[in-house]
Amino acid sequence: MSTIHLSKSAFTRGLQCHKSLYLKKHHPELEDPVSEAQQAVFSGGTRVGLLAQQLFPGGIDLGDFIPDNFQKAFSETELLLSKDEVVIYEAGFKTDNLLCFIDILTKKDGRYQAYEVKGSSSVKDIYLWDTAFQYHVMTSAGIVPEDIFVIYLNTSYVKQGELDVQQLFTIESVKDRILPLIPQVKEQVRLMNAMLANVTPPAIDIGPHCSTPYGCNFTGHCWKHLPEDSLFSYKGLKSKTQWSLYQQGVYKVEDIPETQPLNRQEQLVVYTQKNQTTHINREAIRIFLSNLNYPLYFLDFETLFMVSIPIYDNSSPFQQIPFQYSLHIKNEPHAEVVHKQFLAQADPYVDPREAFIRQLIDELGTTGDILVYNATFEKGRLKEIQRQMPQFATAIDSILRRVVDLMKPFQSRQYYTPEMKGSFSIKKVLPALVPGLSYEGMDIADGGAASQAFMSLFGETDAQTITKTRNDLLKYCGLDTWAMVEIVRKLNTI
Ligand code: SF4
Repeated sequence: MSTIHLSKSAFTRGLQCHKSLYLKKHHPELEDPVSEAQQAVFSGGTRVGLLAQQLFPGGIDLGDFIPDNFQKAFSETELLLSKDEVVIYEAGFKTDNLLCFIDILTKKDGRYQAYEVKGSSSVKDIYLWDTAFQYHVMTSAGIVPEDIFVIYLNTSYVKQGELDVQQLFTIESVKDRILPLIPQVKEQVRLMNAMLANVTPPAIDIGPHCSTPYGCNFTGHCWKHLPEDSLFSYKGLKSKTQWSLYQQGVYKVEDIPETQPLNRQEQLVVYTQKNQTTHINREAIRIFLSNLNYPLYFLDFETLFMVSIPIYDNSSPFQQIPFQYSLHIKNEPHAEVVHKQFLAQADPYVDPREAFIRQLIDELGTTGDILVYNATFEKGRLKEIQRQMPQFATAIDSILRRVVDLMKPFQSRQYYTPEMKGSFSIKKVLPALVPGLSYEGMDIADGGAASQAFMSLFGETDAQTITKTRNDLLKYCGLDTWAMVEIVRKLNTI
């Protein structure tokens, strides 16, 4: 059998679950397909890595030799390290069956410093383990760094003009935290090698480890014994309850024994599912509706999502920049609904926020409640614009005072149906209350996809693609607010 190599990613996979590592090495065909969202995360990570290299300019990049010519990367690294002073990107080392590629390695006056780059806003525990693995491999190969660092994104940085990479990143030494992990790294490597030499995968059942610290990409294989409607699809059940039931052999809500301890929310989820009943607190709903002040504005934002490198001036890593809204307006209870919307031109050089907020302030008028679904989100974005564009502060203040959260009656279970599966997200509430109206089958069906679609238009020149993508965006955001109109109409009927 050929040697099975362990790299940083294989090691962290194995730390999470030995079976996952075994399947990756012996049965990669069982892996789940990579989603567009995951692909976008990988591409974002590559861009962060390239930008971080600018912190140490003039380096020699050996990344081109990965993954097809590891040997060349190792020999080039050795050659380059014979110089007195050098910066190497993706410096490669090998010892036994272990491989590592250090994102940035510097040598000066005979001393080495190693840097691992993460597209994250902090040093997570798992990063300490993968950095400890890198340290172990390179020191075993004979290069002992004086210090080892994690480079990650500084969320306090506010872009102004050209990206300032010195401010964009935080460099933090982790040597003191990883050295105590090295004996465990060695022991884990030994266990993983022994496990990989077996002819069958380890007998590991599914568990909370399937999603921590990363979502495993063998769930399609390992979770297939569960029914589609398993208790794991019920958000209203706590993870602890789900796993305790699973270990008792209970896979469906209908089979949960009467003796199972449940909190009040879980009891509601289980009772309504078993009895196929709807729970409605009519008095609470009546009070909620009677407190609404017309005209009613049904509002929803779309924003850039999980964008690690700020695109526009006056914004920070991971800041969610609004680029679109949909607004349905009902002037009085029986009036026709009027629709307004805003969708910025997708251009990385034109900040969408000013046009967005100007049109929004104009269209929201000065009276009437503004209904949003999950007010924390819309209020958060408005407050950010308020801080960054003080000329709109007063107008935004008065908008904030008028915001009413339509999620509240569902979050507090004043209206609950079995179809909601314990969730109060609009994606579940809408089809439960208004059958026939749902997000199923839409080309853009969630906020992450909307963000990616908007950014995919940066630099796009094909008119057909632009028109289709913009129409998909308008359709998706429009459904979010139309859903709210329909939900209020339905609440009024009860
Ligand atoms: S799905 Fe769970 S049990 Fe299966 S390989 Fe992944 S982490 Fe392990």
